[in-house]
Amino acid sequence: MIPFLNLRAQVDELRAELDAAIARVLHSGVYILGPEVESFEAEWAAFCEARHCVGVGNGLDALTLSLLAMGIGEGDEVIVPSNTYIATWLAVSHCGAKPIPVEPIEETSNIDPEKIERAITSRTRAVIAVHLYGQPAHLAPILEITRRHGIRLLEDAAQAHGARYQSRRIGAHGDAVAWSFYPGKNLGALGDAGAVTTDDEQIAGAVRILRNYGSHRKYVNSRLGFNSRLDPIQAAVLRVKLKHLDEWNQRRRVLAHAYGRALDGLALQLPEVIENVEPVWHLYAIRSTKRDLLQQTLERAGIGTLIHYPIPPHLQEAYASLGLSNGSLPIAERLAQQVLSLPISPHHDPELPAAVGAALRPAL
Ligand SMILES: *Cc1c(COP(=O)(O)O)cnc(C)c1O
Repeated sequence: MIPFLNLRAQVDELRAELDAAIARVLHSGVYILGPEVESFEAEWAAFCEARHCVGVGNGLDALTLSLLAMGIGEGDEVIVPSNTYIATWLAVSHCGAKPIPVEPIEETSNIDPEKIERAITSRTRAVIAVHLYGQPAHLAPILEITRRHGIRLLEDAAQAHGARYQSRRIGAHGDAVAWSFYPGKNLGALGDAGAVTTDDEQIAGAVRILRNYGSHRKYVNSRLGFNSRLDPIQAAVLRVKLKHLDEWNQRRRVLAHAYGRALDGLALQLPEVIENVEPVWHLYAIRSTKRDLLQQTLERAGIGTLIHYPIPPHLQEAYASLGLSNGSLPIAERLAQQVLSLPISPHHDPELPAAVGAALRPAL
């Protein structure tokens, strides 16, 4: 069986460097925040072309603390994509605000700027743009809208480590950018980890306080904070993996191009790349009305696939209280029934796309 993702292969490739980095933390005697976290923050900010980086516990907290740092709370509305991973919505709910779903452009699966404009009300305080599957959202038109309305733009970049929009890295196009370093992401820790990058000193300062009990000085608390600090062992691991990120993203790109060639001409929709972006192919999601058959066909051929995501947030029990029934967000619902993620990672064989194409051809 060719697994959808083999995290062990990543560790095996970097084993000696990882062992040395972890040993360095063990030896340091510093196990909360400290120099390892500070070094990663400086290196990640530089990589992302952002002025500030604050390491936090995970991607959901990166989103939640960013919204709180922007002053968002009870009674506010935040626009979110209808077809994202539920964390994007949960961050809004955990601030006491209301997620307002907006449908994506079908070809890119990223939030539709025209529909954002129509969803803005007097209560709207922010938009969260998700760079889904590793392709940057349509940031220029979104920024034009958020600036004109005096609202904030938060980017959910949990799938976009190293991606570029108009030649500049994802990292500080919007007011703040939330990162997840969940192990399966393009830059993944060996456990939970996250970060916020921003050019805004006030947002960075607020997240820095919020992640550490609302404290700016030990035992002095200015805000109702959280405990969500990036772990120094994870920071050390991330510093090792960051050195390989561009090369590992390049391997993903090679696979994506090979999929494009191998699946060309089949009755499927392949992912479309917009102009002026450099995606990093966190996922390679095809679309088909015969999705379940295709998944079974690949399973029988020994190739693992996944669905991102089978149930959109508005149809989850957790969001029953919003009263958004089946049929209310047709694009998100259609995507949930049609998308299929093919295996793509730095450790998959570049010959795999040809095998996927050969297995799928008779089924289409
Ligand atoms: C992974 C992911 C998150 C959540 O990150 P965690 O570190 O698991 O909390 C948020 N948004 C998107 C789009 C993701 O893919």
